[in-house]
Amino acid sequence: MFFSTFIHSKLKSMETKNCLECGDAIKGRIDKKFCTDYCRNSYNNKVNKESKNLIRNTNNRLRKNYKILSELNTTGKMKVTRSKLFDKGFDFNFFTSIYKTKTGNVYFYVYNQGYLALENDYFLLIKKE
Ligand SMILES: [Zn+2]
Repeated sequence: MFFSTFIHSKLKSMETKNCLECGDAIKGRIDKKFCTDYCRNSYNNKVNKESKNLIRNTNNRLRKNYKILSELNTTGKMKVTRSKLFDKGFDFNFFTSIYKTKTGNVYFYVYNQGYLALENDYFLLIKKE
């Protein structure tokens, strides 16, 4: 959504040389993107805010996943059901690394807490020391 708005205003500015922030026509140098310092600052602040939000949300998801794995894996190596992970709000889209063994097993890690999909919707939780 934000990205397409960005592209759109970028394309628009190439045709008419309008300010990326407010859309007003830009006077002066041909390479200018903003009509005023105010517009440049406000535009850049928005871009920074978007990327900060993305990073914060991703970190929050990872932290939650890590917490869930840590709480479930009390012995350092144990089996749980998929529904147990789901019930706690585990999100399988967020992990920090993947480890594939020679035998083809794929371990997903959230920091040092890993999991491996087993048969029948079971997961092996494993803690890397
Ligand atoms: Zn402007």
